[in-house]
Amino acid sequence: MKDILIHFYKYCLSFFSFKEKTVCNNQIAGEYKKISFIEHYGLYTGMLSDRGCVRKRNEDSVALVELKSKTKMTPGVLAIVADGMGGHNAGNRASELAVNIIREIIGATDNPSEKVLAEAVQAANIAIFNEASENVDYAGMGTTVTVFLLFEGQAWMAHVGDSRLYRLRKNAWIQLSEDHTFVAGMERNGLITAEQARTHPDRNVLDRAVGTHRYLEIMLMPVDLETGDVFFLCSDGLYDLVCSEEIRETLLNYSLQASCNLLVDLAKRRGGHDNISVVAVCCDQPSNLLFSSPSTRDVVIASNA
Ligand code: CA
Repeated sequence: MKDILIHFYKYCLSFFSFKEKTVCNNQIAGEYKKISFIEHYGLYTGMLSDRGCVRKRNEDSVALVELKSKTKMTPGVLAIVADGMGGHNAGNRASELAVNIIREIIGATDNPSEKVLAEAVQAANIAIFNEASENVDYAGMGTTVTVFLLFEGQAWMAHVGDSRLYRLRKNAWIQLSEDHTFVAGMERNGLITAEQARTHPDRNVLDRAVGTHRYLEIMLMPVDLETGDVFFLCSDGLYDLVCSEEIRETLLNYSLQASCNLLVDLAKRRGGHDNISVVAVCCDQPSNLLFSSPSTRDVVIASNA
């Protein structure tokens, strides 16, 4: 673990002394877990979005935005991966709209919360739905949206579609988001095995997307935080070609930005048939930031990089 922490120093946004305390219990994925909030911490980030080797355009949009608290000296972050779908430029338009609207709404509030996050995703849904209804070029467009929001030591996920949010805690790697695809639904209901799901020809057919219907059901939940946790968001262009174990091993051995670069490169070397987007955030104690440098603290914001 120590090696990893040393690698992370380059991507520090800020750092403070550290204290952790438990504030409440919440239900996540069917079982009760302690929800910790971290009072003082440093944030480390990495991000990359790539067109891949086959597609003409990058229809993924990503964002990584620093959020400032007016009352607390702790950094916050908003991380988004959106994977657009639709003909011509429609997929690109849908994912870009989603990222911009969510970023605007979360950025405009002094107190980002689960409620504001839900409102932001719903607003993105309506905006995409309306534009698709009014402009024939954008008819039927939609997008996946996976959001990780961390503010004043608490974190939440909002998720629709088949982009993913994973968490690496020490050596343990879990997928926090649920794939909203027909194939994943069949797997959850025991109709097919995990291996059959992984190679199923229709594995990328969504049963839910942002912007395709007026009503949207969002997977929304608080995210349990511990020091050293790494949160990793990606589009299917990555996990179709790079397995979980490879992602986990990379994050354990390289800095977050180096991991993002290496993983995207690996997917491209395996064909890169789709757009590939990755965003990584680590929340850790500042004493581990051995070589923090002011020049690396700039906020990284990008869309369709
Ligand atoms: Ca994709």
